[in-house]
Amino acid sequence: MNTKKFDPAASIQALKQFGEFGGVNPSITDSSTFTFMTAKTMLDTFHGEGEGCFLYARHWNPSNKFLADALAAMEGTEAAWVTGSGMAAITTVFLQLCNAGDHIVSSITTYGGTYAFLKNYLPKFNIDVTFVDITDLEAVEKAIRPNTKMIYTETMTNPLLQISDIPALSKITKKHGIQLVVDNTFTPMIFSPFLLGADIVVYSMTKYINGKNDAVAGAICASNQFVLDISDVNSGTAMLLGPALDPLRSSSILKNLHTLHIRMKQHSKNAMYLAERFREIGLKYNYPGMPSHPQHKLIKSMMNEEFGFGGMIAIDMETPERAAILMEAMQNRNVGYHAVSLGYFKTLFSNSGKSTSSEMPEDVQQAIGMSPGLVRFSVGLDNDIENTYQLIKESLDEM
Ligand code: PLP
Repeated sequence: MNTKKFDPAASIQALKQFGEFGGVNPSITDSSTFTFMTAKTMLDTFHGEGEGCFLYARHWNPSNKFLADALAAMEGTEAAWVTGSGMAAITTVFLQLCNAGDHIVSSITTYGGTYAFLKNYLPKFNIDVTFVDITDLEAVEKAIRPNTKMIYTETMTNPLLQISDIPALSKITKKHGIQLVVDNTFTPMIFSPFLLGADIVVYSMTKYINGKNDAVAGAICASNQFVLDISDVNSGTAMLLGPALDPLRSSSILKNLHTLHIRMKQHSKNAMYLAERFREIGLKYNYPGMPSHPQHKLIKSMMNEEFGFGGMIAIDMETPERAAILMEAMQNRNVGYHAVSLGYFKTLFSNSGKSTSSEMPEDVQQAIGMSPGLVRFSVGLDNDIENTYQLIKESLDEM
């Protein structure tokens, strides 16, 4: 499927969202409850029929709706729903789609929190998970059982930066009548998973979408029906577990969303620069933008090219001890911060095996090929990436 003509940034810009008094930014909802002029409209709204009405802010509120509409435009989905964290978005989808006794096929390389939820938490509900190498399509299909409800993956996996073949996975899920759910946190705008065949796209907006590391938030982009289902007052997972995003945060994230396309291009440009330098000096690195990446061709066939290959790059320092020395040296030189998370304007780096993937036991880390010395970089928006590289090189030379 060729999606090169789709421009997610233009889709957001095409939305006209006036504030209550004509302000260029929508007004911020400062109410948790809303008035109704008639008793009938209130009752209809409870039953999901009060078109355009707001009932209670955990269900819907205008600020969250503005942000959700912009996200749906970016993804090409009919609708979206915004949550108080990325984990809230992911777990809402799992719990909405699966009942006790159901089964999920998941990529084994996912964010550590997602892995922990699938592995340690879902057994409480008698929901079974088979972990697979998501690049092995035969193994993925073989893992499907009669009670499988979904395949779950990340477009670009954390932290191995593997690429999921969304069109091929979509063929498999359609053949078996199940859902394809994709976490696109690492690659907003670069990939449009829904247009490539996914049914539901989830985000941690804490990362690139907000881009400021001042908020924790998430999103679910899906069909109108799915968003109605999760917000149903009687049975909706989002309505009943209550992971709604605070409207004040929605409003600030919406403003940041409008610069996402510029930021993604700069993150990608800087990461590509570092990857090229790392290759020149013979450092063991992993960057999906380089032809040496095993799925480079696949990425090129799926991506919205103008946004580049993303801001995530990994290097292999072989041991956690060597990773620690390098990270401390880089922080001392102000390359960026030794911190988890990603998508920030400064470069962030962390040793995945000892941080965001530490939920995964060491033998599993080893089995999937995650080096204990893997240092994951979220490359920042530096205007002078040449200088940043020199500081990284000095830190490496010091070792
Ligand atoms: N998905 C991915 C790929 C992540 O990297 C993370 C967090 O690091 C999450 C989801 C969870 O997001 P949050 O921390 O907003 O709950």
